[in-house]
Amino acid sequence: MPQQPAFITEPAQRIEVIRHADVLVVGSGPGGLAAALAAARAGVEVVLVERFGCFGGNITVVGVEGFAWYRHEKTVEANGIGREFEERAKAMGAAVPESQSLSYEIDSEGFKLVADALVEEAGIHAMLHRQFVSPVMDGDAVVGIIVESKAGREAILARRVIDATGDADIATRAGAPVFKTPVEEMQAASVMFHLAGIDKKAFMEGIKADPQTYGNWSTGEWRIETSGKEDAMFSPFLAKPFAQAIKEGIIPKHLNTIAGTWGAMHDSGELTYMNLVHLAGCDGTDPDSMTRFEIEGRRQAMLAIEALRRYTPGCMGARLRNFGMTIGIRDTRKIDAAYNMTEGDARNEGRFEDTVGIYPEFIDGYGVLILPTTGRYMQIPYRSMLPKGVRNLLVAGRAIGGDRIAHAATRNMACCAVAGQGAGVAAALSVKSGRDFDEIDIAPVQRELERQGVRIY
Ligand SMILES: Cc1cc2nc3c(=O)[nH]c(=O)nc-3n(C[C@H](O)[C@H](O)[C@H](O)COP(=O)(O)OP(=O)(O)OC[C@H]3O[C@@H](n4cnc5c(N)ncnc54)[C@H](O)[C@@H]3O)c2cc1C
Repeated sequence: MPQQPAFITEPAQRIEVIRHADVLVVGSGPGGLAAALAAARAGVEVVLVERFGCFGGNITVVGVEGFAWYRHEKTVEANGIGREFEERAKAMGAAVPESQSLSYEIDSEGFKLVADALVEEAGIHAMLHRQFVSPVMDGDAVVGIIVESKAGREAILARRVIDATGDADIATRAGAPVFKTPVEEMQAASVMFHLAGIDKKAFMEGIKADPQTYGNWSTGEWRIETSGKEDAMFSPFLAKPFAQAIKEGIIPKHLNTIAGTWGAMHDSGELTYMNLVHLAGCDGTDPDSMTRFEIEGRRQAMLAIEALRRYTPGCMGARLRNFGMTIGIRDTRKIDAAYNMTEGDARNEGRFEDTVGIYPEFIDGYGVLILPTTGRYMQIPYRSMLPKGVRNLLVAGRAIGGDRIAHAATRNMACCAVAGQGAGVAAALSVKSGRDFDEIDIAPVQRELERQGVRIY
């Protein structure tokens, strides 16, 4: 047998430049969508590139509907575009009251239309179905990107670029230093799903008859650190049906990781945002790993549904309505930023001169759950979005610089929107002033954010 080559050489090719932008935002999750809207509203030409066919990131492509499930009476918020997502979804019939908080659960399908409307109204040039594959560099400055699609390879050039891919794809390929969580320590991935065919009355009666709390999250192999005040609070948590299914041999013993929360019980009999399948060891930057866990996650979801049918009131007629379009990834790379946020910032109300917004004291991840029931909050510094080693690039969303516990706070969607709005305004003013991202005057950025309705102090 002839030996198979280990590498091939890709020939150089001429690539057509199909677009120029003042600000190019890549990725349209809560971070990227907020960034694009903020930049456009600050008066520059914005292009928004997204690899899938809709905007919204995890909200729409994974089905993560709990946008602000942490909100209680004393919670303080940055407001701004994150709050607008919720309010606009409500106004467009794409949100219902959330089950455990004073917030609204965003409908993952309806939000596609909400995002379309926001993008169109802001005059953003939308480019769906294009995947970023490579940065275009001028020395250490990112001056554009190469995308790949059904149209082949194309280039988009821009005066400033915002990487909102969630995985810091652009920063990484541009050579900026990033930290990747070791795969055995990554937060679990989840295959999310929504159900139809639930008897709402019977389901809600069952929940009321046996209410679960955040204290119940410490079950099986899981131990969750709280501040104590969370332990007796209601949580839409389901574990008993799956423990019963293990006992009866419906679910294999080793799958004692099947448990978690439901989001909203709709009048239509849909039970949505089923966050029950947790897949440890999935690397969201490795397509082979993602392939394996997509398939395994779907298998586990069907076991979970079978257990719900058998052991949960109102669920006898439960039917899979849909899976998310892709496996949900919580944790991959974070940039090494000019300032990396710390556990201390998240736990002790971090304050920064270059604040671009606030975020309530909400920590959810790496075995910690703290809810913002007291009015405490931290500020998000501009420098946490500024990667080292490359120019013209900001990183918004869940890949901003920070340690694990900081990330357990900043990864949340409303916080990604805070950072995104800050990045968008900073990019717009950087274009207008001609000053580099690392030389930007923060005061006008803060004034524009306040004009856009953001609480920054
Ligand atoms: C299962 C699950 C449950 C969660 N539950 C909650 C919750 O209840 N509440 C909460 O606040 N947070 C929750 N999170 C966390 C939250 O969803 C994410 O941290 C947040 O969405 C990150 O926002 P983002 O804008 O950084 O990235 P994303 O929402 O991941 O959006 C990134 C976008 O970039 C696009 N993209 C990526 N790479 C490329 C590329 N190369 N080219 C073009 N486009 C690209 C993607 O398609 C996507 O649209 C959950 C996460 C998961 C996975």
